[in-house]
Amino acid sequence: MRCSICGARLTKEGDICKNCYKEFQEEEELKKDTKEQLKIKRKYSISYEVYKYTELIIICILAMVVCISAGGFLESLAVIGIFAVIFGLLFFIDKRLAVGTKVVFYEKKAVYTFDIGIINTTKVVKYEDIEDIRYFQTRRQKKFGYGDLCVYTKGVIPGAGYFGGFQIKNIEDVEGNLKKIAEILGVTLEQ
Ligand SMILES: [Zn+2]
Repeated sequence: MRCSICGARLTKEGDICKNCYKEFQEEEELKKDTKEQLKIKRKYSISYEVYKYTELIIICILAMVVCISAGGFLESLAVIGIFAVIFGLLFFIDKRLAVGTKVVFYEKKAVYTFDIGIINTTKVVKYEDIEDIRYFQTRRQKKFGYGDLCVYTKGVIPGAGYFGGFQIKNIEDVEGNLKKIAEILGVTLEQ
């Protein structure tokens, strides 16, 4: 007799081995964990977008000024049109990412979702598998209190750990949210 899932030899009668049964039970237990403790989304705000693309916006304005002062009316319109398309696209992509990215913390697990239509990923991470949580922020993110939240799971090489856990960019009040997460996970943050 062999386990119908992993193929391990069975010592007693049955369909699956002890290990697979334990895993199955754990999974069932995790499925029952549906009480939402905290939901975090990737933030989208126009003012941050404008701040993030400051240099690009300045270049665009300068280019427009040059065109307008050169007297080319149609050229100016074309330049404005091109810039409108570029920014429209950049803002649209950021907005789409923000709408499609979230993590929900339950009592024992976190469920991360990344859904932008063509790409759709869901990751379930058990708290007992979490090694570390931390955030990173750029100078610009800091001004808005935003940051990139990273959740690392055990058994992965530091630095390459992103694939073992998940990351959410541009979350609001990153410091406050990290504290809330630590509380839910029952860990103390090292500062
Ligand atoms: Zn098995």
